Amino acid sequence: MAPRGLCYPQARKLAGGSLVEIIMARHQGFCGGVRRAVEMAEAAARAHPGGVQTWGPLIHNPQVVGRLEDAGVAVTEALDGLRGEAFVVSAYGVEHAVLDAAAARGMKVIDATCPVVTRSHSLAHKLVEEGYQLIAVGDHGHPEMVTLKEALGDRVTVVHTREEAAALKLRGKIGVISQTTQSLQNFREIVGDIALRVKELKVVNTLCPAITVRQEEADVLVERVDALVVVGGHGSSNTTRLAEIGRAHALPTFHVEVAAELRPEWFAGVRSVGVMSGASTPNWIIAEVVGRLEEIGAAMEAPAASRTS
Ligand code: SF4
Repeated sequence: MAPRGLCYPQARKLAGGSLVEIIMARHQGFCGGVRRAVEMAEAAARAHPGGVQTWGPLIHNPQVVGRLEDAGVAVTEALDGLRGEAFVVSAYGVEHAVLDAAAARGMKVIDATCPVVTRSHSLAHKLVEEGYQLIAVGDHGHPEMVTLKEALGDRVTVVHTREEAAALKLRGKIGVISQTTQSLQNFREIVGDIALRVKELKVVNTLCPAITVRQEEADVLVERVDALVVVGGHGSSNTTRLAEIGRAHALPTFHVEVAAELRPEWFAGVRSVGVMSGASTPNWIIAEVVGRLEEIGAAMEAPAASRTS
């Protein structure tokens, strides 16, 4: 691999003699909502030595969840497993049955729901109050959609695909919102389809800017690199979507959770690598991935250097 002078705005050309040019997207690491939730959980663990729990992983990053567990924040997914002094609600909310069970066990409930999610739910309620039949473009089973459905019942329908939207019977005034972490393209396509079928449509863009900006950066970055490394939890939907953008452009794309997953053979013939990360990926994992990429580049450079000496 030989270096080339690509320059993406906010690109970082890394030192270290690597032949791989590593181009970092501008937006990396925790978004504001994830950072807030992690800090609230850490503070809860310090304040409540008798035990802190979350319902499922607080965020979709096993390494961060592991560190939180070490700090005293345990994960449970069973109502009868709820115990301890405090319960931290994740950034995307949690069902009322869980909250009620935690409160019934005397746990202090600490609400780390992201304000962007809370605002999206408020806008959804407003549309319903204004008489719109509400459609939410989102992932079935995602906590943000589950809690919305719990609050609005039959007054909201969650759709994930254009096919699901096409199967809906649409009557009267139609309102559409999106799960905050949805794919911009999916939202755009479903809204476009619905617009052609109804007389009155009100669309409220509830996509989180922290997510859309990364997807827009991915659209640019994939045109400028030979391979893309996306760093983040394998269960993180927003991280997975970044990888999907790379693959949709037929770009060699590698979604890794940790640096140890990177294989040197992936980068044979690769001159520049783009690095992106999901909103729940901590900076220390990104730094380790970049360090490993530098090592791989340096190792590929070494035989060529020895041939010319
Ligand atoms: S991605 Fe957006 S909505 Fe989700 S936690 Fe982060 S800031 Fe909140």
